[in-house]
Amino acid sequence: MGGLKDFAKRKGKVGRFSRRKIWLFLFLLILGLLATCLYAQGFLQGTRINQSRVGKELAQPFEETSASQRLVLRRERSSNETLDKLIKKMNQLVKTAAKTAQKIEARFYTAQAIKHIKIISGEIGVRQAGSKGESQAADYIEKVLSSYGYEVKRQKFELPNGRSSENLIAIAPGQLDRVLILGAHYDSKPPSPGANDNASGVGVLLELARIYKIRHAVPTIKFIFFGAEEMIDTNPDHHHYGSRHYVAHLSPGEKEKIFGMFSVDMVGYGNNFHVRTMKRGSQSLVKKLLSLTRQKGFNLTFRKDEGRYGWSVHEPFELAGIPAAWLEWRNDPYYHTPRDTYIHIRSFCVETTGKLIISFLSNLSEEKRD
Ligand SMILES: [Zn+2]
Repeated sequence: MGGLKDFAKRKGKVGRFSRRKIWLFLFLLILGLLATCLYAQGFLQGTRINQSRVGKELAQPFEETSASQRLVLRRERSSNETLDKLIKKMNQLVKTAAKTAQKIEARFYTAQAIKHIKIISGEIGVRQAGSKGESQAADYIEKVLSSYGYEVKRQKFELPNGRSSENLIAIAPGQLDRVLILGAHYDSKPPSPGANDNASGVGVLLELARIYKIRHAVPTIKFIFFGAEEMIDTNPDHHHYGSRHYVAHLSPGEKEKIFGMFSVDMVGYGNNFHVRTMKRGSQSLVKKLLSLTRQKGFNLTFRKDEGRYGWSVHEPFELAGIPAAWLEWRNDPYYHTPRDTYIHIRSFCVETTGKLIISFLSNLSEEKRD
């Protein structure tokens, strides 16, 4: 058989290669494959060890995620980043909107001041010292101040006619301990409902109190609503009970802290805007105010109080050596008459007064910065 012969011939040789060489080749091939397997296994183990170092929780999902899953994860990550950016932008927008809203809210709204004038002189009406009308006005002032977040202190005092009245005090803390007093009397001279004298001053002060709960002034502002300013009988010295009582009960330390006091009285009607004093105390506040009004274009002029007395609540402050002044618009033909109603109130006078005080306070902030 040719097959057997061929096999005999080929014994020890397969084609050009000897059988030994073939076995050697196969052996080396198997050895190579085995080494590759071992190496691959070792590599994988090494990777797993490294991964476990990083943290099984982190490594495991990546090892097990497919390419498409990884793509989804990448997209999720980038959409999360976009969302973060969007949230940051939205927060910035909300902050800007809040600041703008606060600026709008902190403006002087003349209509608000006039609303108070209307309620005090129209709905409450005549407010003689120690009367029910005066006490109703005090309750209204307290209610408004409380609604702005103030704690209102009431200071009661007796009148020589056996009645009593009260001062109402609200404090807007400033950046400094120095105090500016903004005062207005809330009683009226019967039979006058006292819209201009002096619901106008109260209206301006209430609106300023609302503003300075939002804004922060350099000095601490004490808003004081004084009772019993008008004469209670025919004796020309029987007036200013609230302001005199307040000044008489100041401690030397409290007095020291007050760098100025403005009386805001009769600021709702007239053609001439005045700052007034008795010229018996420090004129520093007046000088400061007049130099500011010249710069800012307010048409304010000085006028001295005639006679022995100061004609508003600044009087006891001035006599106690505290720089004090009275802001007043003149002349009102309805002064101390039943015709002093809110109908004749001029919004221009009310607005100018409010804005002048704001300008004075803003100027103090600029001075502090310089
Ligand atoms: Zn008055």
